[in-house]
Amino acid sequence: MEIKKGIAASPGVVIKEAFVLDSEEFRIPRRYIKGEEVEAELERLHTALAKAQEQIRSLQGLAAKRIGLEHALIFQVHLEMLQDKNLIEEITSLIRDKKHTPEYAISRALRKYIKAFQEMDDAYLAERVSDIFDVERRLLRTLLGEKVEELNRLQEQVVVIARNLSPSQTLALDKSKVLGFATDVGGRTGHTAIIARALDIPAVVGLGDITTDVSGGDLVIIDGTHGVVIISPDEETLENYRGRQQSFQSFEERLAAIRDLPAETLDGHRVTILGNIESPDEIPSCLHHGASGIGLYRTEFLYFGKTAEPTEDQHFQAYLRAVTTLGGRPIVIRTLDLGADKFGAIPERNPFLGLRSIRYCFKRLDLFRIQLRAILRASAFGPVRILFPMVATLDELRRAKRVVRDVMQELETEQIAFNKDVEIGIMIEVPAAVLIADSLAKECDFFSIGTNDLIQYTIAVDRANEGVAPLFNPAHPAILRLLKMTIDSGERNNIPVAMCGEMSGEMVYAMFLLGLGLKEFSVAPSTIPELKQVIRSVTMEEAAKVTNEVFKMDDPQEITRYLEETTKRVLPEAF
Ligand code: PEP
Ligand code: MG
Repeated sequence: MEIKKGIAASPGVVIKEAFVLDSEEFRIPRRYIKGEEVEAELERLHTALAKAQEQIRSLQGLAAKRIGLEHALIFQVHLEMLQDKNLIEEITSLIRDKKHTPEYAISRALRKYIKAFQEMDDAYLAERVSDIFDVERRLLRTLLGEKVEELNRLQEQVVVIARNLSPSQTLALDKSKVLGFATDVGGRTGHTAIIARALDIPAVVGLGDITTDVSGGDLVIIDGTHGVVIISPDEETLENYRGRQQSFQSFEERLAAIRDLPAETLDGHRVTILGNIESPDEIPSCLHHGASGIGLYRTEFLYFGKTAEPTEDQHFQAYLRAVTTLGGRPIVIRTLDLGADKFGAIPERNPFLGLRSIRYCFKRLDLFRIQLRAILRASAFGPVRILFPMVATLDELRRAKRVVRDVMQELETEQIAFNKDVEIGIMIEVPAAVLIADSLAKECDFFSIGTNDLIQYTIAVDRANEGVAPLFNPAHPAILRLLKMTIDSGERNNIPVAMCGEMSGEMVYAMFLLGLGLKEFSVAPSTIPELKQVIRSVTMEEAAKVTNEVFKMDDPQEITRYLEETTKRVLPEAF
């Protein structure tokens, strides 16, 4: 049994066998063989070893011609590995004595070496890890032939273990097969984690080397609530986690009971809870969890799985479907936030500071106009609001509004219906926007705070990099002050302020944000009932006291401890 601590990306507990996805997307189909199969399986192993050696020899020849003899020696190392008596003996004994399949035996034996090499404090030896991976992959490829199974062709339920999953891979996960996932890289507010929460799939990210610790078929526990992964658990641990799995489910059931009640404090102060979506398909789940509308539709996901850019009609159909499903409830459609870790990223030295989001739209006005036409057309069918991402200057807001006006004129000329009074808001997700919030507020209808980027850009910490994850802390006093400045500015200028970043869905901050005067929380659907429960358990006076106390502290750790304690009092099950 091995216990690994990572970053809690999406809550819930799942216990299942692992599907290890490496860059070549191999999976080991089964772990065990019957006694009478041993000889035939050993034969398969030896054929595979011979075939792999043959391949390496011919590669050696090719490499010598193309890159020189010196580099061709790399393959000599691979060859020696395949002839290593100890290694072959180890694999053979796993097959003969433990009745493992050759695939599983190879993976187990080689991953043990990989782990040992990784732990050595020697750069040369650490480099050898990629060679062992290479040998493992070659042997698996030889054994499995063309039967490479991919994520979308899963036959049974698994938990996926991967180096990384891209946001689009995550969005494409088949929930009936993939019950949870764990990755080597990633942070809590990377888009992969956001989508896992949207899909309600328990996940742990940023584990460092989970792909080397787990072999396909190993039994794994993923505890997405606490960011823990347990490999090959013992009976006692298994029992314990089965219990946790049950109490998580019954907690969810209890929360479902308050789904249709208002998000209202004990003293009658009402706030609005909305859902965040990447596709109109997620709207039923938002409504099911008790959302009163959609506070953020990340439209860039329309690009997912497409080889060509979406047409105006494809945009329009998606928005119309969203508006129709919502049946009169409001929706905030954010214009394309392409670039950085999402789609359309053009190779740039520093993509998060580059041609991302609204900046990209200004460069690609054709694409921006197509989208705005579609949003405006959808606005004739229901309460649609437009949200511009990543605005950092007043000029950007003015320019974006000019494009909207221009597109409106075009639609008018074409006699196409739209809502002339459509509300236009901006994301507050760059510190510069907070500092000029009063000027921006005078020229738009609402703010929506994007804490994921606001934290990233304020603390200068990559939101998806597990290496700096501890620095990505919403409780940093700089962030808390920026939030206060934004909400105060909204009040001064009489425009509503929402929050659609992940912070608004984290229970520990709910009371603080309530006390700060936040009236709209836009969150992943699965967190709605929990959030409602916190709000329904406090008075505004209590919330304001929490906010005041927090502003007296300057240590993020102390703030987090304090917020955890106060939240635990009203919702102990969330911890
Ligand atoms: C944010 O930055 O907080 C946000 C909501 O936008 P995204 O996560 O899509 O960048
Ligand atoms: Mg953002």
